[in-house]
Parts: sequence; structure tokens; C-alpha cells
Amino acid sequence: MSERPRLTVLSGPSGVGKSTVVAHMRKEHPEVWLSVSATTRRPRPGEQHGVHYFFVTDEEMDKLIANGELLEWAEFAGNRYGTPRAAVLERLEKGEPVLLEIDLQGARQVRESMSEAQLVFLAPPSWEELVRRLTGRGTEPPEVIDRRLAAAKVELAAEPEFDETLVNTSVKDVARELLALMEVV
Ligand code: 5GP
Repeated sequence: MSERPRLTVLSGPSGVGKSTVVAHMRKEHPEVWLSVSATTRRPRPGEQHGVHYFFVTDEEMDKLIANGELLEWAEFAGNRYGTPRAAVLERLEKGEPVLLEIDLQGARQVRESMSEAQLVFLAPPSWEELVRRLTGRGTEPPEVIDRRLAAAKVELAAEPEFDETLVNTSVKDVARELLALMEVV
């Protein structure tokens, strides 16, 4: 039968709750390795370098891209984000499951370069709920929220490109479903 999918990509609109689902999943299953992305975005309160992201300057990001050190990268709402290639390949070579939590443009690049990847789309229960979550986060100024809502509209339309869709009605349920798709449990 088919090989167990070792590389799983979780994507979906900004604000849908990807990082909450992943955080919940990792609390119960810390052995699931999550790639830490590089970003030029400023840290939000509580975010730690090397844990939530590698916070880099524009120049550092230019170098990572030019040196081919990123498996994929994308510009999102005015900042660049990318997945460090070496750490991901190292885990995959050991046969360990790898999870990427990235935006839609990144998911498309992974599909192109690693056809065996399993692409999972996290959808909001409704558009109204997504607006509520993005607006209520309270960490971003209105113009940033507007950019993220505009991006979310485009991103929602991409759902059919994905192998699987999970609807984020309950963080606990979605985390369990994601683990099952990764064949960790
Ligand atoms: P945030 O600024 O809210 O942490 O992330 C914004 C968006 O960037 C989210 O959709 C998140 O999934 C995505 N993102 C985070 N890391 C990466 C990455 O390494 N590559 C890509 N393409 N997107 C990423």
C-alpha cells in the first residue's frame, strides 16, 4: 500500500487557528517535530527566537534565499517567511514525521518540490468566524488585519488543491484528526 506520509503540510488562511492546533497537538505529542520558520516579521509578545520563529533581518533573509537554504519561502502581508531546508531533510532522512505550518504559497512550492508531501487545509467554520478571530486577536493594527483578511479570501478558494480538509470547529478534535493523518496515533 501507499508509503506513510512523512511530510505533512498544514496550511490555511491567516487567523484560522493553525498555530493553536499545532501547539495543542505538540503539548500531547512533543515527539512530533515541527519545523521552525525564519521570518522578517517582528516578534509578537511572548514569541521566542528559535522556538516560534527565527526572527531575521531583511539582509539575513536575502542570504538564506540566495544560498538555497530554504525549502520554500513566501511573502505574506508585508513580511517574508521561509522553511529552513536542512533541518527538514535531516528528519525525513531518519524516517521521522515532519510537520510544516506554512501559508498557501509555501504549500504550493512544497507540492512542486516534494510530491510525496501530504497537504492539509485547515478551514474556518465560517467566514464570519474567521473575521472575528482575525479582528479579535488584538495584536495587529487595522491595516494589517485588512491585508490578512484580503489574503484569507484568496486562500479560502485554494481548498480544492489540498489532499485533506479539516474544519476548525474544536482545537482538540482537529489536533486529533491531524495526528491521525500523520499516522502518529
Ligand atoms: P504569522 O505572522 O501569523 O505568524 O504567520 C503568517 C502566515 O505565514 C501564516 O499563514 C503562517 O502559516 C505562514 N508561515 C509561517 N511560517 C512560514 C514559512 O516558513 N513559509 C511560509 N510559506 N509561510 C509561513
